[in-house]
Amino acid sequence: MTFREDADISGRRKATTGGRGGRIAAGGGIGSLLLIGLFLLMGGNPGDIGQMIGGGNQAQLPGGQTSELEHCNTPEDGNIHADCRVDYTAGAVDQMWETLLPEQAGIEYVPPGRVVFQGATQSGCGQASAATGPFYCPADQSAYFDVSFFDQLDQLGGTNSPLAQMYIVAHEFGHHIQQLEGTLSLSNYNDPGADSNAVKIELQADCYAGIWVSHADKGEGAWLEPVTREQVASAIDTARAVGDDNIQQRSGGQVRPDTWTHGSSEQRQSAFITGYNEGTMAACDTLDRGVYRS
Ligand SMILES: [Zn+2]
Repeated sequence: MTFREDADISGRRKATTGGRGGRIAAGGGIGSLLLIGLFLLMGGNPGDIGQMIGGGNQAQLPGGQTSELEHCNTPEDGNIHADCRVDYTAGAVDQMWETLLPEQAGIEYVPPGRVVFQGATQSGCGQASAATGPFYCPADQSAYFDVSFFDQLDQLGGTNSPLAQMYIVAHEFGHHIQQLEGTLSLSNYNDPGADSNAVKIELQADCYAGIWVSHADKGEGAWLEPVTREQVASAIDTARAVGDDNIQQRSGGQVRPDTWTHGSSEQRQSAFITGYNEGTMAACDTLDRGVYRS
């Protein structure tokens, strides 16, 4: 998966970087394992997990130091450095939604904040660390990415490929789309389960990520070289890997669909594929709202 040499990255809204000591954040993350694992390590009561993950997004502006990603200057830098890849992918995802969201949902696209951090950073949803995984914080409408998280994709049985990393970026931006649609708050980790709103919201974000992949190599201003089957397969692998059943199995626990917040491997894979094959918001209508035109 490569950025085209002639991709016009100059107009993108640049990510900021941050790093500071800290604890944990709540928000629409890519998967459940890391939050829960960290929480238990910290001596938390498993019964409180839902409350912590779903609860209290107190409004609070991001603190910590921020700076430009000054080594991300050419498209090629996005093929070399994971943080530049995240930054550019965010720009490419912006570009698609600027057109698609008004067209298909009648909503103006306002880009989210994006923060690439290492170690730990402050978010509007609390302190985030590498163990938190990538997440979207509705309180400050920003997506947070610690690129060191990508190394864990292999451990989860996924594939840490460039397109898999891009899928994760596009998934978190999918939560921002839901925020703009006014539906993200329907997700409630206190009310989990395979058919829960929490899962429907996550599957829709996977589907929205699939939409982006289907558009990313098309048209005049496309930023990506043609996406290959192998690359798509690697993103699908990763969508499977972050399924709740896979994560529960790998963490040595029982597979319990009544506790799911993100969906099974099968559900997540199929949501991504649907978005990729159909390329429309209507195909991703997991909440059955029937409001999209395509
Ligand atoms: Zn998510």
